Amino acid sequence: MRTIAFGWRGLSFELPKGWELVREVIEKKHGYFEIEDETMLRLRIYWEKIPFEKSPELDKQLNKIITQLKKKSKELKTTGKIRTKVHHHDALLTRVKLSPPLEMLLLLWYCEKREKSYVIHMYYRLEEYKYIENILKKIINSIRCHGEKYLWNFQGISIVLPSEYEAVAYRITSGLSWLRLYNLKSRDYIFIFYNTMGSELLKDYYESVYDWYVDMVKKEVGKLIGRCTERGREETLIAGHRGIRVDEGKFALLRKKVNVISYIWYCEKTNRLISVILAPSKAEHLENLRKFISTLRCH
Ligand SMILES: [Zn+2]
Ligand SMILES: [Zn+2]
Repeated sequence: MRTIAFGWRGLSFELPKGWELVREVIEKKHGYFEIEDETMLRLRIYWEKIPFEKSPELDKQLNKIITQLKKKSKELKTTGKIRTKVHHHDALLTRVKLSPPLEMLLLLWYCEKREKSYVIHMYYRLEEYKYIENILKKIINSIRCHGEKYLWNFQGISIVLPSEYEAVAYRITSGLSWLRLYNLKSRDYIFIFYNTMGSELLKDYYESVYDWYVDMVKKEVGKLIGRCTERGREETLIAGHRGIRVDEGKFALLRKKVNVISYIWYCEKTNRLISVILAPSKAEHLENLRKFISTLRCH
């Protein structure tokens, strides 16, 4: 089974290829996100901020969850309870029979480093049990829930960033999709843009990836950080592809100052046009932000 490193909001683990983040709900202190394969919903990952002094006792928490679930479905049954470890934390795993043939594996743990509780629901049909059990083993062994740096994987495009970054907005469409990452401390932005149907766009609409960038991406970014003037442009290697690096300035009067760097390329493996933009709050942060570019992967 081929797996890829998935990461979202500080939680990362290995997933089979083709499993994608499809939905997310975020409240101030809790939320969840969902991952599907081509057949069905596979993972729902709940997180909740709980201060260490109120950290839940796992067995009690599991009983509470099961009681809640039973209110919705009387025929629900659980079998077995296994103690395991997730990124050095104690964790509980149980198997829940929903309405036949649907079942789920339920995994929960508390990360005291980030003071967050996690509950994972993993859905499958009874006949898939062996296959799913294998995947869950891989997930459990690869989970990282705390650290100084986090992997972000946005629909297959990934980057590793310091833990202060948060996804503040994103849009996934059949046209231009984007993710806006924001560092709460330094107030720096990193944008990831991509367009599917890259080869078709390059054949019928745009002369080059640069034209696509100017027409589609630059406008969107400008809405948020203000208009930018190009200061220079050169060919570069990016995520294993030949691409273009564009230096831009936010203020027309300071003619030499570069405040923003945009990388643009075409990934023939995924047929996407991609642009990653570094837009720090201060030009002095640019050098530091450029270090993250070597962690970019697009296929
Ligand atoms: Zn942790
Ligand atoms: Zn690529």
